Amino acid sequence: MTDNLERCSFCGAVPRENEQLIEGLNANICEICVEVYFHILESMRSEEMNDPFSDFINSDLTPKSILAELNQEVIGQDHVKKILSVALYNHYKRITSKSKVTLEKSNILLIGPSGVGKTLLAKTMAKILNVPFAICDATAYTQAGYVGEDVENILLRLLQNADYDLELAQKGIVFIDEIDKLARKGENISITRDVSGEGVQHALLKIIEGSVVNVPPQGGRKHPHQEFIPFDTSDVLFICSGAFEGITNIKPKNDIGFKQGDENEKDEITSEQIKKYGIIPELVGRLPIIAKLNKLTENDLYRILKEPKSSIIKQYIELFALDKVNLVFENGALTEIAKLAYQMKNGARSLRTILEQIMLDIMFEIPDNPDITDCIITKDTVLMKGAPELKMYRKDSA
Ligand code: ADP
Repeated sequence: MTDNLERCSFCGAVPRENEQLIEGLNANICEICVEVYFHILESMRSEEMNDPFSDFINSDLTPKSILAELNQEVIGQDHVKKILSVALYNHYKRITSKSKVTLEKSNILLIGPSGVGKTLLAKTMAKILNVPFAICDATAYTQAGYVGEDVENILLRLLQNADYDLELAQKGIVFIDEIDKLARKGENISITRDVSGEGVQHALLKIIEGSVVNVPPQGGRKHPHQEFIPFDTSDVLFICSGAFEGITNIKPKNDIGFKQGDENEKDEITSEQIKKYGIIPELVGRLPIIAKLNKLTENDLYRILKEPKSSIIKQYIELFALDKVNLVFENGALTEIAKLAYQMKNGARSLRTILEQIMLDIMFEIPDNPDITDCIITKDTVLMKGAPELKMYRKDSA
């Protein structure tokens, strides 16, 4: 500036007589600019606050904090939990980042026998992230033109679970079980599925790979005169799951130390094995994170009874407490239940089956017997050699 007037360094104006010019180290700012920039800042802040996800999606996550939360619900499966902690953390960064660089989505494939925690892991991941969650069974869907549900209904379920908040639903997690049952005929070892399996794989591919899908708001089959909800699946995390029975018998290429038949061996499953099992390569390509869950040991089953936040034992204790009865499981009873469940070979699912049998009679009796104060489940109760030990309220001891 050639004149000697004091000017605002931002707008260049010379303030009028009754206007302030605030002096900084190497710059001045006029009153009007202060106001303008204040409003700009305010509107930027309110945009951030109106971000539909900032209220919902959990912040302060790290892979370690995710693992700590998974540990509270899921027993064992330590390696898988580590893989999923990192995967969920990366997904969290993807859906919250405003970066211009496209961070590619990494959907997940969980492989493992029934009742070992696949659904529980997926459910817990959605809970940790605080996003909507939907579960579905791959065998319920059919390729276009066949009888059955359209795959788009998976997204409708997600939308319903998000109370029809489309923005939020588009950041949800979808769990698709029994994906192995869609395996292509002819290549897999267990041929259990009809011809439309491969067609469903193609239909699933479309929604899993991240695109805008037309969702019928009423569900069921699509029809031409219906209004559709355009649902963008780019930020939906898909977790597919299946037992893939016999997959360890498919020899991966270049695997020198391969042992046949041991389903619990530490070796990871490769995408090549999954393709050979009968999942189309395009779909395998969209499931880059493959995690294999192990069978649960007897000790895992024992811990599952007691340790998770809402373990089955804790649930029974709570149910009895509502009837003012103190329910106790002796340690010998718990080890016996774990042993029986292990023999039933259905993972942790057998724990509930066994407990339902043990508890049926006593749960039938207790509500009509207000004098019962304590109920003790012993090893003999589990072995059906005797009834639970009961303690009664005695008027003279009151
Ligand atoms: P799947 O592997 O067939 O999806 P689920 O996750 O549905 O099995 O588990 C079935 C039941 O067993 C659920 O009630 C779940 O809470 C319990 N469960 C299974 N595995 C575990 C585990 N590793 N830790 C804690 N609970 C488990």
